[in-house]
Amino acid sequence: MQDAPREDPICPLCARPIPPGAPQSLHHVVPKLRGGKGGETVLLHHVCHKEIHATLSEAELARDFATIAALRAHPRLAKFIAWVRKRPAQFDSRVPKRRRR
Ligand SMILES: [Zn+2]
Ligand SMILES: [Zn+2]
Repeated sequence: MQDAPREDPICPLCARPIPPGAPQSLHHVVPKLRGGKGGETVLLHHVCHKEIHATLSEAELARDFATIAALRAHPRLAKFIAWVRKRPAQFDSRVPKRRRR
């Protein structure tokens, strides 16, 4: 299961590909709070998704950050993006996990 000739989806937050085995999750761009039309979601790296919710509350997301462009412009997320881009695409957490074997 490596080097499959297919296009991986691109994470809209950090603009890196999301390989099939990478931790990933869906983010509701327009939170339900705001009654988003049909619940639009985007596929993100799990680590990127976690960072969004660690940075912003649901209310802030609904009010000011209901677009990916707004998220990318947030100072803390912009720093995170610059940082995570240097990490491997499979990367999941700031805390390295012990390899179990
Ligand atoms: Zn989310
Ligand atoms: Zn990402």
